[in-house]
Amino acid sequence: MVRGLARPTPFLRLWFDCAGLYGRAARSVQGDAYTGCCPRCGKKISFPIGPGGTMKRSFRVTCTP
Ligand SMILES: [Zn+2]
Repeated sequence: MVRGLARPTPFLRLWFDCAGLYGRAARSVQGDAYTGCCPRCGKKISFPIGPGGTMKRSFRVTCTP
């Protein structure tokens, strides 16, 4: 067991305007996107992962009906 190495977190932090709550987007099984859903209305959010992508770890999400 190797310990002490920082691994990239498999989650993004999301702020849902709609719900007024923080949530998380988990990395997909394929590793090509983060997906989460709004705790209030259930809207699915996905953030593709790819070269040239942002290093931001948190995002504000606004659900549009
Ligand atoms: Zn919502």
